[in-house]
Amino acid sequence: MGTSHRKPFVGGNWKMNTNAESATALIGAVSDRLRASGAETAVYVPFVYLREVDTVIKQSGSAVRLGAQDFSEKPDGAMTGCISLSMLRDCGVTSVLTGHSERRHIIGETDALVNAKTRAALDAGMQVVLCIGEQLDEREAGQTDAVNERQLRAGLDGVSKEQLGMVVIAYEPVWAIGTGKTATPDDAQDAHAKIRGVLAAMYDQDAATQMRILYGGSMKPGNAGELLAMADIDGGLIGGASLNADDFGAIVDATGV
Ligand code: PEP
Repeated sequence: MGTSHRKPFVGGNWKMNTNAESATALIGAVSDRLRASGAETAVYVPFVYLREVDTVIKQSGSAVRLGAQDFSEKPDGAMTGCISLSMLRDCGVTSVLTGHSERRHIIGETDALVNAKTRAALDAGMQVVLCIGEQLDEREAGQTDAVNERQLRAGLDGVSKEQLGMVVIAYEPVWAIGTGKTATPDDAQDAHAKIRGVLAAMYDQDAATQMRILYGGSMKPGNAGELLAMADIDGGLIGGASLNADDFGAIVDATGV
């Protein structure tokens, strides 16, 4: 586990999965399973089930944060099909994802849009999990660190040191997401340490030391322990394994708090 003063964070990204019944059952089971954990946890729920999931979280007295997977960078108005940050707040959301690889590479979000969303969410008082990470061809071309640095600098452009306390970084090598392939603990640690170095250059050493940097990409109960044992890995962003409360719980347990 990363340095002990950084509180571990584990987020479950449900993506476009669940229905009203299974979302309610899943959050109920997750809330029970995580009751004794000292880690900070969040679930990123499809928009249409946010209210149902929020109700279960509140009824069960759970400390799991309610999160959203996306939102508009605009406050209101003519944006057909979009959801604003104030709408999310109405539903009980306190944490959002930005820069997830599926939104960058399938939907086409640019670094500039990721930055606009990150800033809008921080201005709205939301916690932001900013996702960065290289694609397979970029890794094979030796560009992993350059891609991470570009996405980090662009994503955090204009974000103040004061706002940084509401930011969590998720390093998610794109080739490892949903593929069953995982970065080796050493490769992930190396990327995380370099990301922390970029944060020190952008802000200062204190800001870099405080930042939680999560690993994401096929993290499962069977590999979480060795990844979370690395000095600069402070938690995980979990896709597939977050759809099973026992698997998600086992990963949270592997943070050791
Ligand atoms: C993710 O979507 O952020 C992710 C890490 O997915 P998976 O765990 O399924 O690879």
